[in-house]
Amino acid sequence: MTVETTLRDLVAIDSVSARSNADIIAYLEARCRDAGLNTTRFPHTDESGIEKINLVATTGDETEIQLALVGHTDTVPYDPAWHEALHLTERDGKLFGRGACDTKGFIAAALTAIESVDLAKLEKPLALIFTADEEIGCLGAKRLAQTKPFTARYAIVGEPTSLRPMRAGKGYCLAEITLRGREAHSAYPQLGVSAIFQAARLLERIKAVSHQLQSEIHQGFDPPYTTLNVGIIQGGSAKNVLARECRFTLEWRTIPGQKSDHVLNLVKHEVADLCKHDPDFVCEIDAARADDSFEIDPESELVQFLEQASGISSGTVAFGTEAPSMIAIGAEAVVLGPGDIRVAHRTGEFVPGDELHRCVEVLRLAIRQFCA
Ligand SMILES: [Zn+2]
Repeated sequence: MTVETTLRDLVAIDSVSARSNADIIAYLEARCRDAGLNTTRFPHTDESGIEKINLVATTGDETEIQLALVGHTDTVPYDPAWHEALHLTERDGKLFGRGACDTKGFIAAALTAIESVDLAKLEKPLALIFTADEEIGCLGAKRLAQTKPFTARYAIVGEPTSLRPMRAGKGYCLAEITLRGREAHSAYPQLGVSAIFQAARLLERIKAVSHQLQSEIHQGFDPPYTTLNVGIIQGGSAKNVLARECRFTLEWRTIPGQKSDHVLNLVKHEVADLCKHDPDFVCEIDAARADDSFEIDPESELVQFLEQASGISSGTVAFGTEAPSMIAIGAEAVVLGPGDIRVAHRTGEFVPGDELHRCVEVLRLAIRQFCA
């Protein structure tokens, strides 16, 4: 099968994160077994009661993998009016479809690469790792990182980087912050506490924290410092009532070298200070997510090899990936795949056909380099 027909098959299987990924896993399992790999399923039930599966396919039944090619099976949702979403369509050398770029293109390239190699001749274990629920928090990869059913020496994590090897990435952290006030008629504000005004006081402090963070620089990122964002704010019940509650999300993306809870601690310090001077300042912080940043030495054999094989010097990514989970199981991990992240997650997502073919070649060379 060509890489295009494989991608067509993969795109035709609806695998948005809200559904079970059992269908696409069954397809991948069959392809891997046909290629002579041994497969192991790591199933679990998600919090909505839906079955999600990580699949690991290896040469031999090894628990010490030399090279892992990692692709997530889930996609973001698609607009039902986008007719190409599940029907891979080629125009002007581009292949359109949901997941074509993020990350079914990489998976198709990895399958095509292993099918072009004589796996029996490989001296060191190769694995394909297919994960669940990347788009909703890298949940599948995190499960593997927690349970550690195997170790890996090197990992290529498929994400759209236009084949540029990415050797470092910012962390991704999220907290929900809730301010509590006391309702009162707005004609008599002295009788209550507005949770919205309390939130405004804290937001001023958080803005100052974001400026403070700009003094710690990590060259190689754009922008070269930890960023934060308040993306959602909700509160209040009516225009003439002092708001009883106000909640907002705080998201931050840490540069490597900075602990993932650094921003949280700075914000907690501001909250403590506001509480000290105002007994009516009531605030709860629910730290929902803390994904580490990662950074691999530019002299790493994997970075050097992928720079040479792709012909592109290594870079960094500001979005979250499964690389930190692969590092947690012992791997040097680099993010690389066909397609551009800027066209991912939107109607009209595509992968350029020539990049897809070059990706097959890069992965084939990587298998020969690290496993032969
Ligand atoms: Zn992705």
